[in-house]
Amino acid sequence: MSNVFAQRRQKLLSLKALRGTAPAPAQAEAVCPACGGTVRRKDLAAGRYVCPLCGHHYPIGAYYRLSLVLDKGTFRELDAALSSNDPLSFPGYAAKLDAARRRTGMNEAVVTATGRMGGQKVAVGVLDSRFFMGSMSAALGEKVTRLVEYAGKNKLPLILFSASGGARMQEGILSLMQMAKTSAALERFSQKGGLYLSVLTHPTTGGVTASFASLGDVMLAEPGALIGFAGPRVIEQTIGEKLPEGFQSAEYLLEHGFLDAIVPRAQLRDTLIRLLRLHGKGGSDHAQ
Ligand SMILES: [Zn+2]
Repeated sequence: MSNVFAQRRQKLLSLKALRGTAPAPAQAEAVCPACGGTVRRKDLAAGRYVCPLCGHHYPIGAYYRLSLVLDKGTFRELDAALSSNDPLSFPGYAAKLDAARRRTGMNEAVVTATGRMGGQKVAVGVLDSRFFMGSMSAALGEKVTRLVEYAGKNKLPLILFSASGGARMQEGILSLMQMAKTSAALERFSQKGGLYLSVLTHPTTGGVTASFASLGDVMLAEPGALIGFAGPRVIEQTIGEKLPEGFQSAEYLLEHGFLDAIVPRAQLRDTLIRLLRLHGKGGSDHAQ
């Protein structure tokens, strides 16, 4: 897997060099957006991008996320070349897609793959908020649907990490259609007895919340994640009432029964492996 990272990094750096904007040397310190404290970047990296002062979970990229949860050397990407093609010829969209691809080295806002976790083979997808805020495009919906179908066909547990700003506005109704498509695929997967673990990360909103992110057999979230459909301002204006404190935070949703657990990033891999074992053949903690 480190090879994949090295290749991607090389590709990204060469593209940056082509544009004459080679990256500036990284600052040694960063200011935490949650507590305002100053944190050394190498401490942040060593702590999986969780603030050592306040526990704030920084959004992280899809490939890095996969490196945190999969067994080393087991990552195999699926449908890597599948990407949006500006189906409505929306003004400016093609150029923005191009820029997002160059900036992130990704083709779409989701990476789908197979790999192993604690030895158990899994089908896994991770949304990446750096690419169009993880918004739902036709290509993203198609990649997720193919992953679900792959998991069903190969009898693998499915794990999806969500992070999304909602619909991809530039794809209009084709974006919204992905809600029904992914949900229908998950229903077929569920009827065949498939296990789906959904992990909500900051932020998970809009059409992704209203479809596959909310359909997990087990619903987990990272601490402090914002999870909702519409934003709080829109809701307040619609219902004409002030919303309760912490509304749409993972902690609020856990209290109200929407989530099964909030799991800090450092414990996520072990928790998922435990759940896979508990739900494996025979339901034994030792089953693979
Ligand atoms: Zn902090």
